[in-house]
Amino acid sequence: MERPLNAKEKLVLAALRRCRKPASAYDLIDALKPEGVKAPPTVYRALGRLMEAGLVHRLESLNAFVACTHKHGSAAVALAVCEDCGSVEEFESQELTGILEGWAARAQFKLRQTTLELRGSCSACLGKAA
Ligand SMILES: [Zn+2]
Ligand SMILES: [Zn+2]
Repeated sequence: MERPLNAKEKLVLAALRRCRKPASAYDLIDALKPEGVKAPPTVYRALGRLMEAGLVHRLESLNAFVACTHKHGSAAVALAVCEDCGSVEEFESQELTGILEGWAARAQFKLRQTTLELRGSCSACLGKAA
């Protein structure tokens, strides 16, 4: 049984949800100063715990974090990052998971976590450009 989130973890998650865009740990530390969360290790610990709980995803390429927009189980997570406005859309796909797990099984690769990053332009930005 997972323990419930503590107060700091809830604050970090709330701050990330307010961002609506990928936020670095430093963005979050800044955002949380008025709420009394000042120590970077506290924020990093909270982020680690939130990622474990599947509530936050890390964008490796941007070294930034996004709040998860839905609940998912073991499916691979794909994050589509708009390079124009910075928004992130998340989706998961059992088909994709099947392909990746099939490869891992054949390659005898022990898969722990899958996060795919897609980069491009979101529909809103494309709409504006048209
Ligand atoms: Zn998610
Ligand atoms: Zn966009």
